[in-house]
Amino acid sequence: MTTDNTTGKFLLAPLPYDMQALAPHISEETLLYHHDKHMAAYVNKLNELVGGTLYEGMAIEDIIRQAEGPLFNNAAQAWNHEFYFATLSPSPQLMPSGRLLEAINTAFGDADSLRQNMTQAAVALFGSGWVWLAADDRGALSIVSKPNAGNPLTDGLHPLLAIDVWEHAYYIDYRNARADGVKALWQVIDWKTAEERYAGIVK
Ligand code: MN
Repeated sequence: MTTDNTTGKFLLAPLPYDMQALAPHISEETLLYHHDKHMAAYVNKLNELVGGTLYEGMAIEDIIRQAEGPLFNNAAQAWNHEFYFATLSPSPQLMPSGRLLEAINTAFGDADSLRQNMTQAAVALFGSGWVWLAADDRGALSIVSKPNAGNPLTDGLHPLLAIDVWEHAYYIDYRNARADGVKALWQVIDWKTAEERYAGIVK
């Protein structure tokens, strides 16, 4: 996450697309609340909690790995949302390719099976949380389900993709139908971003 050069405070990254750009899959109203209200609150709370502590000036990934309680929750939620919004695009590459696709085929059989497994994990996760596609240091892939603010960084893994299964991510557009929200999300997930992240891990 970027920080303010003068104050060192974490900054709310603007959405990399217009609020209307992901409709009809994700509405303007959902993005407005999700980014400008929910994510903004996590970033503000993170700055408030970090001020005057040994975590001040620390990289957010290290805060996530080391902190517990409210500081972990707000640091992870700030990071998770920047990551999540950066994965979405109005003109996404809808299928993985290249080395990431090879790793997906090895771990899950094919890209459709991965999508089905992640969707199933998202529907099955009780309450609020995140479902991640993550890689280990050698590039081997796994699906990681985490409650609340959970992030695979705390397991020493590298996140590639995230599905936000908090109700605030889908309730305006899909009400209680989480599966429909996840199905729509796949229409705006940009595999190019995941491939770039993967290329940064497996040199
Ligand atoms: Mn969210």
